[in-house]
Amino acid sequence: MSALPEYRTRILLERENVPLVNGVFVSPGEEHPSDLPEMPVYLKAQIPGATSRKSSGLVRRVATTEELEENLSILLSPGEWGVAEGVLIAEGLDLTAEYYAGCMLDFGSKERLPGGMLLFSTEGGSGVEGRSATLLKMRFSLLHPPPPEEIESELKKLENLEEHAAVAGFLKGMISTFIEYKLNVLEVNPLGVLKDGSILAVDCRAEFEKSAVRKRDMDVFYPPGLRSSRDITKLEEVVELINRDDPSGTGFFRQNRETPSEGAFRVATNLCGGGGKMLWEMTTGSRTDIFTMNESDTSGGLSAFKSYRILRVILAQKDAQVLLLTGSGMAFQNQHHLAAAVWKALRESPTPLPSLLRFGGTDEDKARELFERVSGTLPVPVKTYPAVVFPNAMVDDIRDMAGETVKIGEAYITPEGEPAITVLIPPGKIYYYPERWQKDEIPPSVKACPTGFLKWNKNALTTDPEAKCIGCLMCETAALLDGNAEILIELEMPEVVD
Ligand code: SF4
Repeated sequence: MSALPEYRTRILLERENVPLVNGVFVSPGEEHPSDLPEMPVYLKAQIPGATSRKSSGLVRRVATTEELEENLSILLSPGEWGVAEGVLIAEGLDLTAEYYAGCMLDFGSKERLPGGMLLFSTEGGSGVEGRSATLLKMRFSLLHPPPPEEIESELKKLENLEEHAAVAGFLKGMISTFIEYKLNVLEVNPLGVLKDGSILAVDCRAEFEKSAVRKRDMDVFYPPGLRSSRDITKLEEVVELINRDDPSGTGFFRQNRETPSEGAFRVATNLCGGGGKMLWEMTTGSRTDIFTMNESDTSGGLSAFKSYRILRVILAQKDAQVLLLTGSGMAFQNQHHLAAAVWKALRESPTPLPSLLRFGGTDEDKARELFERVSGTLPVPVKTYPAVVFPNAMVDDIRDMAGETVKIGEAYITPEGEPAITVLIPPGKIYYYPERWQKDEIPPSVKACPTGFLKWNKNALTTDPEAKCIGCLMCETAALLDGNAEILIELEMPEVVD
C-alpha cells in the first residue's frame, strides 16, 4: 500500500467538491506563490506516509513574512526527515470544534460482502478506535453508497454533535472520493467546524494500491516530477498529460539528453510504431552528422487529435532544425487523418519546422494529395515521400531542408466565440459558424465526417447521439479546403508548448 501526502489527497477531495481549508503548495525550486493565505499560516512539509508531523517539526505556525521565508527554506531543504515533495501553506483558522472522519476498505467476511467503512468521531486526534461513546462506525456499499440523509440519521445517534446535515454532506463527499479513486484509506483529521457552522477538511491523507490507479489519475498519484527520478523535461511532462487526457493509442516522447556533435543536423522526429523507429535507427544509427532530438512513437490507432498534440510537443523542441515523420510504411493509423494532424500542427505551431513526411498505410495517397494542396500556404517547406521510398532518401534531403528559413506568413484562422460541440474523448472543441455557410446544401465539413457524428438537419448543424467523434480532423480539413472555414477545431495545449 502506498501513501498519498496531504497536498495530493486535497486534489482528490477538491475534485469531489469536499470543502478544504485554503492552502497553496510550493515545491522545491519553485517561486513562492503570490496568492498566499493571510497570516498566520501553517507550513506543512509534504512527505508521503509521515506521521506525527507536528512533533517532528514538520508542521510550523508562522506569523510574519520573514518567519515564512526562513521556515519554508528549512522545510524545502533535505533534513533528518529526508526530502519533502514540497510544503503546503495553509490558512490558520479559528475553529469551534475539531472532528475526525475516515473511510477504509472493509474486506468483508463469509457473511458480508466487501465494502467501505465510514468512521466519524466528535473528537479529533489519534486513537479514534478507543472512543466508543463518540465514534460512529457505518458500513457502506461501494456500488450504492448511502445518501446524505442516511448518514445524517446515523449521525443523530451521536452525543455532542449539532451540525448533522453539514457533517453528513461532508462525509458524503468523502465517501465519493474514496470510491472514485479506489482508495484503501482516506482520513480527514481534523475536520474543522467554523463559527458559522460550516465544515472543512483541515488535514487529510490517503493510502492506495498502485494497481488501482487509473491512467488518467497518474498525475496525482505519481506526479511526473516525482516518478523514479526528477529526470523529466517539461515537454515530456506535457506528453504525460496528453496521455492522461486521451489514453487511447501510444503517445511516447523522450528527449535526447546528449549534446549534439558540432555541425550535426538537429532532427525532431515523429516515428510511428516500432517499424518507424527501426527504420530510423538503421538509417542514422552510425551517422554523426544527424542528431536525433527525441525518441518518439505515435501508433496503436491513436486519434488525429492526439497526433496533433504530440506533434506540437515535438515541434516545440528548442534548436530543432527539421521535422522527420515516418512509420514502417504499413501503418494502421489512417494516413489521411495523420496528414490532417501534421498540417494543423505546422500551421498552428509558433515554431514550425521544415518537414520531411513519409506516409505509408491506409489512405497514404490522400495524405500526400493533402500536402500537394496546402504546402504553399505553410510557413515552412514540406516534402512528402511515398511508402516505397526508404528513409535513406529522406536523410539525404535533411541538409537542404535544414537550410530553409521559416517564412512569417498570415496568421492561421483561430476559432472565436463559444464551441458548438465539446468532445471529451478524444478531447477537442468544435466551433461552427453558420454565417459562413448560407448555401442550401450540406457543407463539405459535415459530408467529410466518417462516423456520421456530425449531421445536417434543416440547414443546421446537429450531432447524432448514437455516433462518436473519433477525432479525425476530417471536418475541419474539408471546411478549410472545400468549404468556407465553417467548422474549426480547437485542441488546447499547455502554455509551455503554446
Ligand atoms: S466531428 Fe467527425 S469529422 Fe470531425 S473530428 Fe469528429 S469524427 Fe472526425
